[in-house]
Amino acid sequence: MRERIGVLGGGLVGALISILLVKKGFRVEVFEKRPDPVKNISTEGRSINLALSHRGIRALTLAGVFEEIEPLLIPMYGRMIHIENSTDFQSYGRKDQFINSVSRQQLNAVLIAHAKQSGVSFHFEQSIQKTNPVTGGITLPSGISHHFDFIIGADGAFSELRKTIGALNNTFTTTEETLSHGYKELTIPAIDGSYALDPNALHIWPRKDYMLIALPNTDKSFTCTLFLANEGQPSFSRITSPQQIKDFLVGSFPDAMKLIPDYVDQFQKNPTSTLQNIKTYPWAYQKALLIGDAAHAIVPFYGQGMNAGFEDCRILIELLEYNHLNWEKTVTDFQHQRKKDADAIAELALQNFLEMRKHVIDEAFLRRKQLESKLNKAFPDEWLPLYSMVTFSDIPYHQALHTGKLQLQAIQTLGNDYNPDNVDLKALINTFKTLAQADR
Ligand SMILES: Cc1cc2nc3c(=O)[nH]c(=O)nc-3n(C[C@H](O)[C@H](O)[C@H](O)COP(=O)(O)OP(=O)(O)OC[C@H]3O[C@@H](n4cnc5c(N)ncnc54)[C@H](O)[C@@H]3O)c2cc1C
Repeated sequence: MRERIGVLGGGLVGALISILLVKKGFRVEVFEKRPDPVKNISTEGRSINLALSHRGIRALTLAGVFEEIEPLLIPMYGRMIHIENSTDFQSYGRKDQFINSVSRQQLNAVLIAHAKQSGVSFHFEQSIQKTNPVTGGITLPSGISHHFDFIIGADGAFSELRKTIGALNNTFTTTEETLSHGYKELTIPAIDGSYALDPNALHIWPRKDYMLIALPNTDKSFTCTLFLANEGQPSFSRITSPQQIKDFLVGSFPDAMKLIPDYVDQFQKNPTSTLQNIKTYPWAYQKALLIGDAAHAIVPFYGQGMNAGFEDCRILIELLEYNHLNWEKTVTDFQHQRKKDADAIAELALQNFLEMRKHVIDEAFLRRKQLESKLNKAFPDEWLPLYSMVTFSDIPYHQALHTGKLQLQAIQTLGNDYNPDNVDLKALINTFKTLAQADR
């Protein structure tokens, strides 16, 4: 009889790992504090969406669930930058490359429905406060305990299992960094049943110290997220009265606010949330392992948190296969291989905040993008831009980060005033190769 696995958290990562494990023949039970999203799909209220890209799609395909998710996706081919009264479209990669906007709630519901059909048992509305990584125990709020051969903590950034492991293991370290910026969601409704903006782009209103972004939903609305400092000027703490909200939003994003008639009301009603970067290690202790945000919660600016969590699921399953389903060997390999990638995408995500709110309108940044696009076209095997390595490939995040740094060094040898049309591309590739060689 195959081992029993308990999964804590039926969010995106918990639902996906449960499918992959049950398909490997394990008996899987998931404990989730919220109600069943399959029964509670609401068409009202705020719709929160995420960007799904290659790494996530690869894991969903491995689980055999991507076909059911594909109809929910809206392709976004690049960034639409809104500057004063004009827009500038910056493609993400080649013409055929795109990321996908998807509703978190719909994606979760499809994953859970698929998991149920595949034989996973779910216990909803069970907020677990007690786990035992030594015995594989999970205690329900009623006091009843379930015992498993192994437990997986996919219980998100505020993981209960992470706290328990931390209390038991004196080599365990966790750092929680809260950003000085927070965020608030606003909705651009459909206009006469149509999208108010181009749905095939991720819209950004970069304002240096803060920014607004918008991703499309299948109901023709857009979910906007305002990223703004928590303190200082301007900040969430200083913008509170209807007049202050109006002055700030209309002053900063006049075109967007024309599309949100009730922006004052939304700003006041919708919560302001914090952004956190959580690092922890080790991820495994005796009969327990942390994955997804429970192991590595990152800020959302590269659109990779969920994708990285889904990639965790794929790599864990591949290692289980490689190690003939030996959990002890698998979790050791998993955390060893994956920790450096989690740290790298955390660093990249922080860097990208600056890129999105500030650099996308810098002349030097645009020149570099133009040069990199030329390099990639002329030497596709030798120069893949950092964004493409992260978003459209499986190159481990730590390698992408490192290669990106060498690429930047190579470009810096051109000085500050180069013209992308006059650069000797072959010579630049050789400079990059020399730097990479010296770095080995
Ligand atoms: C504003 C914002 C935008 C983002 N945009 C993107 C994006 O565009 N692309 C992307 O890839 N990522 C994005 N992310 C990151 C992404 O949301 C997370 O990485 C992803 O949700 C992690 O999935 P998870 O299953 O590990 O955790 P979660 O989604 O947090 O799920 C954890 C689950 O565990 C349950 N749970 C928690 N504690 C308990 C308990 N004690 N008992 C039982 N159940 C419990 C929760 O109810 C939840 O269902 C974004 C994040 C934010 C904040």
